Amino acid sequence: MARILLKDIFYLHTSSEAEGLRGYDLLIEENLVKKIDRNIDFVPSDGDRVIDCSRHVVVPGFVNTHHHFYQTLTRNIPAVQNAELFDWLVHLYEIWKGIDEDAVYYSSLLAMGELLKTGCTTSTDHHYLYPRNFSGDLMGLQFKAADTLGMRFSPTRGSMSLSRKDGGLPPDTVVQTEEEILEDSERVIAQYHDDSDLAMRKIVLAPCSPFSVTEDLMKKSVELARKHGVRLHTHVAETFDENDFCVEVYGRRPLKLMEDTGFIGEDVFYAHGIHFNDEELKVLAETGTHIAHCPSSNMRLGSGICRVTEMIPMNINVGLAVDGSASNDTSDMLGEIRNALLLQRVKYGAAAVTTRDVFKLATENGAKVLGFGRIGQLREGWAADLAVFDVHKLEYAGALSDPLGALIFSGYNHGTDYTIVNGRVAVEHGRLTGFPEEELTGKANEIAAGLLK
Ligand SMILES: [Zn+2]
Repeated sequence: MARILLKDIFYLHTSSEAEGLRGYDLLIEENLVKKIDRNIDFVPSDGDRVIDCSRHVVVPGFVNTHHHFYQTLTRNIPAVQNAELFDWLVHLYEIWKGIDEDAVYYSSLLAMGELLKTGCTTSTDHHYLYPRNFSGDLMGLQFKAADTLGMRFSPTRGSMSLSRKDGGLPPDTVVQTEEEILEDSERVIAQYHDDSDLAMRKIVLAPCSPFSVTEDLMKKSVELARKHGVRLHTHVAETFDENDFCVEVYGRRPLKLMEDTGFIGEDVFYAHGIHFNDEELKVLAETGTHIAHCPSSNMRLGSGICRVTEMIPMNINVGLAVDGSASNDTSDMLGEIRNALLLQRVKYGAAAVTTRDVFKLATENGAKVLGFGRIGQLREGWAADLAVFDVHKLEYAGALSDPLGALIFSGYNHGTDYTIVNGRVAVEHGRLTGFPEEELTGKANEIAAGLLK
């Protein structure tokens, strides 16, 4: 049985604690945290290892609740650096229609690599783009990438069925028929979904947005997901344009459309959720619907500020997400936690949310969003998913009166020393263990250049 002892850690016993605890050891056995205590008796045998954490802060691995991995290959494109969502999308669809199997595989490695290096151990991905010339098992390529790097992964089977000729936003070349979508959704659930608490693979169904799928596909996705007990995800209330589109085309605001299609409830999470009115917030609370908050993307596209500070006391479960890499344009999970804190304070003042609040969004709450049990907290018997940051560095010097808060208020590299997922070391001394980083960088740049041609 493989064991790892993290020696002399600083950590928070519960995520809301003000003070942390120093001088504890944490023992990992196989894929679980076996014990957290002072001076754990440990005689290493073959294959066991001890990691000295006396310079470090140890936190539960972060959970990323919304992403579009393939967009790592089209970040920072000058033509849309200053565009809002709809113009940004219309320009990028024309590039994205060229993605092939290599683009999917390497962009997945790239996005997950960045996530792991910045403390994230569990992620979803919302891949909704299936170009006509694409054949093969797209999600299988993503799982291959997740296995290679050692990430806990809950991808969504995304979809678009409403193209320009039918009044939607995307071009015909990147949408599929409802039959194709539903058949492949059923296939990936059967092939990959694992119901258990500590699954490494879970499936979610995710029609892209109100302006790229039909109402009928929303309803059928709901039926299929509930038949198989998998979660549902989509973009809701991201922009005023989306609101206008829904009122014009469906005669309803986006959330009403969700209610009418059954796309709401404890098994549903929406990306963004910015432009809800007071009544709609109550509906979210009553139905137990979750929000994946994406502060950097919302700032980048000028979309607005999600009402997180008001949602938390209403018991609306809010998780955190980096969003797709064409609108962030990074998968820096620790940086996202910092932005979540700062953005709420712009609207609600300096006491709006604390460092503990935003850590909770990125850990416990995120695990609830994606429906995982026993991840998101450092507890005996829970998943050995940990991010280990070295805070005895220049950028944290002078900030260690609160080592956990230092990770948010100070620092600029945001990289872990170690990231451990399901008991496996995925990042060691700040480098990925599963794939050579130089090769990945080169390959991603080559594919990105090809897409732009
Ligand atoms: Zn998105």
